[in-house]
Amino acid sequence: MSTTSLPALFIGHGSPMNTLESNRYTDTWRNVAASIPKPVAILMISAHWYINATAVTAMPNPRTIHDFYGFPEELFAVQYPAPGSVALAQHIAELAAPTWVGMDTDQWGFDHGAWSVLVHMYPDADIPVVQLSINANESLDYHTKLGARLAPLLNEGVLIIASGNVVHNLSRIQWGSEGRGFEWADRFDIEARELMKTNPAAISTLSQHEAFGLAVPTPDHFLPLAYFAGIAAATDAEVSVFNEERTMGSLSMTSYIAQPA
Ligand code: ZN
Repeated sequence: MSTTSLPALFIGHGSPMNTLESNRYTDTWRNVAASIPKPVAILMISAHWYINATAVTAMPNPRTIHDFYGFPEELFAVQYPAPGSVALAQHIAELAAPTWVGMDTDQWGFDHGAWSVLVHMYPDADIPVVQLSINANESLDYHTKLGARLAPLLNEGVLIIASGNVVHNLSRIQWGSEGRGFEWADRFDIEARELMKTNPAAISTLSQHEAFGLAVPTPDHFLPLAYFAGIAAATDAEVSVFNEERTMGSLSMTSYIAQPA
């Protein structure tokens, strides 16, 4: 099975401007996509669908959502016209049981946490994509357990991509500090890296870290890592790191790939 199983990814997505740029992060996203089998479908778990429920997009043609402001017109013109998959959405709900997953037929679509990465990894937009929400009412542990239940998708040719940022504190962003992180950001990101590589099942211990409050002031960008950790632990995966970088003081671009054993 290991040769056919797709990996799970955690992508530190950073600024929406990565959509339009070709830089060291986006080059790596492209290289990762080129190095793995072409998926039959993609389950995308984006920090930017942070709602009071667990839901999946269940429409045949999800719209492209421009969920930001203050960016160039060119970014608002971006479309990611990949099809959805109602069948995959229903399958995800079955795998998640007894956790309830709502079928979203008309609310969401693809947000920039999804398409800022996908335009680089799969520019042809020819692979069906389903988005799964982050549930603002639920714990880190809930998301880790749900990730574990969804892990069988990897053996069915579905690529799972969790898109967030391990360290994401916009109120502390220090413009002009590209390529450098605050000491607390370094400490937290490195601790997270060691845990992901050795014992992702213990991700909840990160919430006890002295820098957790600074690194994770709100849970939205961190909880995709909980999904990823649940999948990595459930599949006894080998976890590797890429794009490891703390930048602008309080943002981590650090990303992971979990190849099931
Ligand atoms: Zn974001």
